[in-house]
Amino acid sequence: MMQFVVIGGDAAGMSAASRAKRNWPEMEITVLEKTMDVSYSACGMPYNIADPNRPIDDLVVRPADVFRKKQGIKVLTGHLGERIDRQKQIVHVISQDGSSFKIAYDKLLIATGAHPILPELPGFDLPGILALKSLEDGRKIKEYIKNNNVKKVVIIGMGYIALEMCEALRTLNIEVDMVKPRKAFLPWMNPEMAKMVKKEVESHGVNLFSGYEILYAEKSDNRLNIVCDNLTLTADMVLVGIGIAPNNKIALDGGLELGICQSISVDKMLKSSDENIYAAGDCADAYHVVTGKKTWIPLALRANRSGWAAADNVCGKQIRLEGVAGTAVFKVFNLEVARTGLNPQEAAEAGFDPASVTIKSRSRAHAHPGSKTIQVQMVGDKKSGRLLGAFMVGEEGAAHRINASAVALHNHMTVESFSTTDLSYAPPFGPVWDPLLTAANQLLKAL
Ligand SMILES: Cc1cc2nc3c(=O)[nH]c(=O)nc-3n(C[C@H](O)[C@H](O)[C@H](O)COP(=O)(O)OP(=O)(O)OC[C@H]3O[C@@H](n4cnc5c(N)ncnc54)[C@H](O)[C@@H]3O)c2cc1C
Repeated sequence: MMQFVVIGGDAAGMSAASRAKRNWPEMEITVLEKTMDVSYSACGMPYNIADPNRPIDDLVVRPADVFRKKQGIKVLTGHLGERIDRQKQIVHVISQDGSSFKIAYDKLLIATGAHPILPELPGFDLPGILALKSLEDGRKIKEYIKNNNVKKVVIIGMGYIALEMCEALRTLNIEVDMVKPRKAFLPWMNPEMAKMVKKEVESHGVNLFSGYEILYAEKSDNRLNIVCDNLTLTADMVLVGIGIAPNNKIALDGGLELGICQSISVDKMLKSSDENIYAAGDCADAYHVVTGKKTWIPLALRANRSGWAAADNVCGKQIRLEGVAGTAVFKVFNLEVARTGLNPQEAAEAGFDPASVTIKSRSRAHAHPGSKTIQVQMVGDKKSGRLLGAFMVGEEGAAHRINASAVALHNHMTVESFSTTDLSYAPPFGPVWDPLLTAANQLLKAL
């Protein structure tokens, strides 16, 4: 019977293990997970941390024992996949008790995810300097806040996780300073829209310090100092949110080909450079449906979907994933921030001749009460007329509205054909001309 081994037991890994078992109930499936947690919603952590009454384990979607007892999947928590021997088709495993053993595979899936990047600067190993990636990280942060009477936090970084955590901490009435070396706030967004988000964050009492080189961290009495060029910020806890990098060690040591951002290079069937080894989720690359080139955009849907597809292919199906559009949304205080596809700079770098417009519209019909401003930036290609990207910010109606443009990107639609689509309308949900259609009509003039 085929032996399918999965390294990594979260979104991609457990999706793959479940799918393979459903496809092929007799298959022997072993999942190696180095922590004690499998199958949890990392995305829910900021909201869980914001609520001291909710146990963090609420975020576990399906406990390891359910996979073991109900699905017959051998889930080995506390087991690190340390190294692969591709010739012998063996994984070397180290268990938390220090013992080691080998597992043979016919097909292997690497679903090791990513790890948070920590600044390689003095003092960043001090207690109270934490990063949020795994459920264990979430547990530690929640406990640290509870046990250390945390009144003030410095967040390093201003990406989406940093901003979600900023909101969570403000909900707990904790003071927040955010600091980063680069000047621009949300550098991938046009400055006018980024300003709207910045204003929203600042209006909730958060101090933003952009353009400060971070030098080191130090203990000062019972608190922590983040020392920057011309600025020292003091806090009870420091949260590092400066990005993540793929967990590629096992692939690198095994001689597998790496791709963009050092993620594991896979084809559209999720196969790595070894035909018996697949990779899925945050550790692997993907194709971008707009550029047709490789990209690395570590998000949850792709992790789940690529885990499924890898398992289907292990089971002999021929599933190809065309790619991702980079569709992403997040909430910060009262704003929804959304994007799909390319901004003008990314489009130019990919060889397009981009034009873009930014419009202001409303989330509800003209005279409908409660209507809010929605800003839309839409990007198209002057040469082909293709739609290349859309960006949106608003108090309501941005997060889900972006999906129409994501579907258009997957279908390589032109701005003109997108402008003729039959989008929904009723006064509580938008103007007759949906903000996306208004943006497309304006963009047509600029192409
Ligand atoms: C705070 C936060 C908020 C987020 N919000 C969103 C959101 O709103 N929307 C969105 O789309 N995405 C969001 N994400 C990203 C999303 O959670 C990830 O894209 C997704 O979890 C990736 O799944 P994965 O299975 O590829 O990797 P991971 O979830 O990182 O899982 C990999 C697993 O492999 C294990 N592992 C690693 N190496 C080994 C090894 N050698 N041996 C054994 N086990 C190993 C790890 O312990 C881990 O459990 C968020 C992430 C965080 C941290």
